[in-house]
Amino acid sequence: MQTPWTVLKVLNWTVDYFTAHQVPEPRLSAELLLAHTLQCRRIDLYLQFDRILSLQERSRFREYVQRRVRREPVPYILGETEFYGLPFFVQPGVLIPRPETELLVDSVIEECKRLDFKHPNILDLGTGAGCIAIVLAQQFPGARIQAIDIEKSAVELAKKNARRYRVHVEWQVADAFDFLTQTSQRFQVLVSNPPYVARKDWAQLPPEVREHEPRTALDGGSDGLDFYRKLVPLINRVLTHPGLVALETGYDQARRVAEMLTRAGLKTQIRKDYQQIERVVIGTS
Ligand code: GLN
Repeated sequence: MQTPWTVLKVLNWTVDYFTAHQVPEPRLSAELLLAHTLQCRRIDLYLQFDRILSLQERSRFREYVQRRVRREPVPYILGETEFYGLPFFVQPGVLIPRPETELLVDSVIEECKRLDFKHPNILDLGTGAGCIAIVLAQQFPGARIQAIDIEKSAVELAKKNARRYRVHVEWQVADAFDFLTQTSQRFQVLVSNPPYVARKDWAQLPPEVREHEPRTALDGGSDGLDFYRKLVPLINRVLTHPGLVALETGYDQARRVAEMLTRAGLKTQIRKDYQQIERVVIGTS
């Protein structure tokens, strides 16, 4: 008789299967997907190695495994990822928040303190799943926070995330440059994690990113700097004085972006992420 599909057997089988299909971090993927299937925490799997999966659990898990073998990112399969220590909903069509972007959020928080902005008027450009705006709303109660994205599906998802944390952000579906050209408002803080992948780097992106994440959130044009080039001339129209601009950049772009901000009359600094990559450019007016 065939041995039953216990947690241990399923895990071992899946790790081998993922390894054979070159799925990165095969054990981690297998554990996350199985824990999601069984609606338990990853560590709980180790307390129930002998548990036998029901037919329904097996078929659900099999579907997740197939998606992962096609290199769909784990967060899309789980429908959730962690940012700033909090779970956020994610879905295909909207960029998955990255740990590096926590540095962008931290930079805004620190600079606002330094500038003594207690209730800053903040605009988040290209908000995606809404994480930046939502964490800032939590950190600055009483601040006015607006966030825009060109994709309706992103704004819908961001609203869902904001409801989860009961924070108030003014969301809008809009093109960043149309918005900045037309608005009569001024902002103390402009923050953005824009699309910045350069054409030369496109082929090196892992299939998880290249084939599954939205191109509008990634593609920064030939050198990756299209967004910054369009943004910089509009800054003085919409930024208060004093004011703060905080931009995430690609691994080799921070100096060029800082230069653009310097030419626009801002005082700039560059911050490195936890991998020691120059990742965030800060400009103050
Ligand atoms: N950090 C993303 C990557 O993995 C790019 C995100 C962006 O373009 N803003 O390449």
